[in-house]
Amino acid sequence: VSGRNVAAVEIGGQKIEPGQRRVLQLPLPRLYTHAEASLPVEVIHSKRPGPRLFVSAAIHGDELNGLEIVRRLLTARALKQLRGTLVCVPMVNVYGCLTHSRYLPDGRDLNRAFPGSESGSLAARLAHLFIQEIVSDSDYGIDLHTGARHRSNLPQIRAQLDDPTTREMAEAFGAPIMLNASLRDGSLRSAAQDLGVPILLYEAGEALRFDELCISAGVRGVLRVMRNIGMLTRSRSKRRYQPMLAPRSSWVRVPASGVVRHLRGLGASVAKGERLAIVSDPMGQEEQDVISPFDGIIIGASRMPLLHEGEALYHIADFSDDHDDNVVDAFQEHHDDQVADEWGEPLSY
Ligand SMILES: [Zn+2]
Repeated sequence: VSGRNVAAVEIGGQKIEPGQRRVLQLPLPRLYTHAEASLPVEVIHSKRPGPRLFVSAAIHGDELNGLEIVRRLLTARALKQLRGTLVCVPMVNVYGCLTHSRYLPDGRDLNRAFPGSESGSLAARLAHLFIQEIVSDSDYGIDLHTGARHRSNLPQIRAQLDDPTTREMAEAFGAPIMLNASLRDGSLRSAAQDLGVPILLYEAGEALRFDELCISAGVRGVLRVMRNIGMLTRSRSKRRYQPMLAPRSSWVRVPASGVVRHLRGLGASVAKGERLAIVSDPMGQEEQDVISPFDGIIIGASRMPLLHEGEALYHIADFSDDHDDNVVDAFQEHHDDQVADEWGEPLSY
């Protein structure tokens, strides 16, 4: 880590000197209209030595909260005291962003295409460029996601929490829930881990929407990780809650096709056997209860009122053994104090 900033950094064949802040456009395969395409990257390379962190968003092209997290991060006053190198990529899946889609134009999921290759599919080529130029020379990474379309996630960190460095970053981030998520083949997370780059995945909110709490908590989370890894001066302010590690999580599916009425929502602390929702036929004649399989917290929920039997309704973090009912409330209160009204300028970070 030390000494890295003595030299310029090179990304996409361009040199960024110590003390420089630059926006780069890394060339990508053109659109079929022959319009040029490029991957936008902003690099802040401090004169002061420190680690290199990448922050990426919209690997799934319809997951947008991360874009706004990156925009606010790049305007944060705290960056004046930056040590090391911050590399921000607000829109990794450029092609998906253009079509409001999670996927590449050929239907591939970029987050199953890592580490990619120069001669593979469009997804593989984009993944390869991202690994080569952004990930491989980084010391740490934070990748920003939301729930899929029509599904919302409570702010949560997914990471390889058996690794002590990753665990420390996750706790510093301060999302209320941490999941020790298993690695998926082809994911950025697994490719970064193969390269020895500790990475956090922040999941918050739903696709194609901005959510102020998720965004504000995300910006603060990234800044707290930056303090933790020595890129910013540590602050003395104490958090009023401790993130909880969920040992397991599982999806609760609707037992019958029909119209869903929610009794509990995102962030609710639920008990085993508790009624979470009611599914009825369109006339409301036949009703079935959706029951919680264990004690836990609802960390993901479908927003779609019409579901077929077997479709996922709630994602519940299992806290059968160890359960702090207050963590979500404490998290929300902590951030409510700090978020601006929906369309107003956010308070400075
Ligand atoms: Zn995603």
